[in-house]
Amino acid sequence: MTSKDRLTLYQDQGVQLLLGRFVKGEIVELVPSFDLGQTARYPEVEEVVDGDTTAAKQLVEKLWDVGIFKRKFHEKILVCPSCLSANVSNDYVCPNCNSIDIERKTLLEHTACGTIDSVDNFLVEGGLYCPKCNKELIEAGVDYQKLGAWFQCSQCGKRSDLPSPIHRCRNCGHIFTIKDTGFVNVYSYRISADAEEEFKRTFLVMKPIGATLEDFQYKVEMPGQVAGRSGALHRFDAVASKGSSELVVLDVIASEREIEETPIA
Ligand SMILES: [Zn+2]
Ligand SMILES: [Zn+2]
Ligand SMILES: [Zn+2]
Repeated sequence: MTSKDRLTLYQDQGVQLLLGRFVKGEIVELVPSFDLGQTARYPEVEEVVDGDTTAAKQLVEKLWDVGIFKRKFHEKILVCPSCLSANVSNDYVCPNCNSIDIERKTLLEHTACGTIDSVDNFLVEGGLYCPKCNKELIEAGVDYQKLGAWFQCSQCGKRSDLPSPIHRCRNCGHIFTIKDTGFVNVYSYRISADAEEEFKRTFLVMKPIGATLEDFQYKVEMPGQVAGRSGALHRFDAVASKGSSELVVLDVIASEREIEETPIA
């Protein structure tokens, strides 16, 4: 992308508002917020495009594309491969019949008599009693051991150690696994130092000067080009002309040090 694309963007009122907030230090970084419907949102940008979430994302992309913004990887969002919605559930289903109607059961072993059974069969009125010898089990790790868990399907009755993980799109209903999941990279953005300088020079400094020249009936172009004696075009931050005889060219040079005459002449 060329500097011309950037300069066109600096003329946009929304862009001016947004970059102005970076220059003033009100925004340091645009951090995306996760959104089920929109995947990612940039609230500070939405403010300058009348709350349009899609337009805000497009503007951020555009500003990155032309080199005004630089970006940093922020997050990878899992999306439905069919409709790209981020409103996706993580489900565990029965590996036999694919039903989501499964229940986790915990296995206990009564240390004294060696009986192994589901915790349900030990539970009696809030206490734990061995279903075989009827002794009360009080201390975990001493009276009884937890042997792990399995999953029981309420539909087909099959047990499994490891149910299958699947994703279900809440937007279009599509069911898919990790193998065909879609991923969207989401970035945070900052203004690039070069673009900030360029914006200050071309917009913050030149705009009021241009307006004043227009008050004096000059025709102002920012940036503008003037043909030299050799015919080659020279670019200036602003070119103001009145009729065919009067011509004013301006270049802004920002510097911490005293500026020598040479770059101006
Ligand atoms: Zn027992
Ligand atoms: Zn099942
Ligand atoms: Zn979907």
